[in-house]
Amino acid sequence: MVPFDDVVTCVKTSSEQGGEAFFWVYSYLVGDTLIDAGCANAASDMVTFAAGHPIARVLVSHAHEDHYGCCYVLEKTAKVYAVEQDHDIIRNPPQYGELFRTVWGQPGPVAEVHSMPEAIDVAGLRLETVGLPGHWPSMVGFFEPDKRWLFSADAVPLPSKKKIGMPEENMPQMIATMERILEMDVDVLFDGHRGPITDVESHTMTRIDYLKDLQEKAISLHEAGMSISEIQERLELEGPWYMEMTENRFGIDILLRSLVFDSPEG
Ligand SMILES: [Zn+2]
Repeated sequence: MVPFDDVVTCVKTSSEQGGEAFFWVYSYLVGDTLIDAGCANAASDMVTFAAGHPIARVLVSHAHEDHYGCCYVLEKTAKVYAVEQDHDIIRNPPQYGELFRTVWGQPGPVAEVHSMPEAIDVAGLRLETVGLPGHWPSMVGFFEPDKRWLFSADAVPLPSKKKIGMPEENMPQMIATMERILEMDVDVLFDGHRGPITDVESHTMTRIDYLKDLQEKAISLHEAGMSISEIQERLELEGPWYMEMTENRFGIDILLRSLVFDSPEG
């Protein structure tokens, strides 16, 4: 738990391996409103946190288990909000594979999920719900127009050189969303895995440039008659050590296929 300022508190959750955080996920407490619920492995810590910091509502950016994982313990005292498209998953979470149960934990079912409001006024701030599709088709973030803050969930990829994609990701749409974020002239990007980012333009531009360059190369190799696996080999793209264990939830081929064939309109 790290205070950002008087109003916003960063709540970091993760699972530990050998006493070290494996992968952080950030939730943000704004007044009595929690943006994203953290991963289920942190459920008991979240309950302790909520006892000291009353949470009236939880806004879920998208139905990935690291973002809605603690809803089932928070709903005892808070209302859970999400866009309609994500309600079924949050109410009845799928059984996640072994790797993800270890890293994030298995979320429990949530009895009631409410519709995401268009905007919410909290602690003197206005949080406007904005669509940020690409990483997840119906993902939303929250924009504070006066401060020019954007709670951006997973809109901007964590690695500067993203090499693996998920089947639900639309890479051209992700690029278009990042371009829109640049147009929004954001001062602070409250990222779902990195925390608050202040060099928004260079941080986002690096990722756009890399992905567009990769897309250009992949498309020209595809037009020259190469298959996705041949393109992967030619571009010497290698996945992380845990790739096999993701049971096809992540893949280099998935990322390349989306860059070549998907359109930003979704
Ligand atoms: Zn996600």
